[in-house]
Amino acid sequence: MDFSQMRLSREPAVYRTEPLVVPGISGYLPEKARGGKDPFAPVVERESRVVVPTREVTCYECGKKSRIPVAALSAHCVHCCAHLTLTDYRLMPGSKKLTRRTLGEVVLPAQTELSLLSIVSGRMVVAGKATGVKLRVMDVLEMEGKAVLEGQVQAGRLEVKKGARVQVSPGLSVESAEIKGMLTARLHATGCVHVRDGGALVGDCHAPDLRLEPGAVHRGTWYPIKS
Ligand SMILES: [Zn+2]
Repeated sequence: MDFSQMRLSREPAVYRTEPLVVPGISGYLPEKARGGKDPFAPVVERESRVVVPTREVTCYECGKKSRIPVAALSAHCVHCCAHLTLTDYRLMPGSKKLTRRTLGEVVLPAQTELSLLSIVSGRMVVAGKATGVKLRVMDVLEMEGKAVLEGQVQAGRLEVKKGARVQVSPGLSVESAEIKGMLTARLHATGCVHVRDGGALVGDCHAPDLRLEPGAVHRGTWYPIKS
């Protein structure tokens, strides 16, 4: 009997050089061995490390700092688990008894008069008028135009824009202040109060450091306090 007749094919035997078991997808052949894409194969994407840009925020519940992705619209504080909103708000005329808590920016536009506002925000820009306010700005409070605030005002840093004539009554407490326009208020600061050339502070100032540039005006008494 001629055994050579029993061979079914005269083609040389092909040996697979790649392992049958691919790490991570046990049981599936490598793509090459499958001769193209298998529509039923799981989609396995190559692991890649993406660096997400982050920014630092201060929690309005516990006051501690943490880092969150720049694009996030809300977050949880890693220290106290509080839910933090990061939405920006533009306050509209006619809103009554507004309460807003956000790490974003709140804008009170010019020619807008509101009352009974309760706001905790990351930044705030005030150009309009608000009475009966309870304001806590974690970062920068910007005042411009003919802004008027009446009530409790607390901010990290106060910036009075050039050409502004703003008023805060009875007063406000901040960490630091930079005054380029005219501010009428009783000012309490734990850090430096800087009145720029052309700027004016009308009212008593309680601060460890009051700097008046040449051309700056302070009408009132400076009470140097310990920082
Ligand atoms: Zn917190």
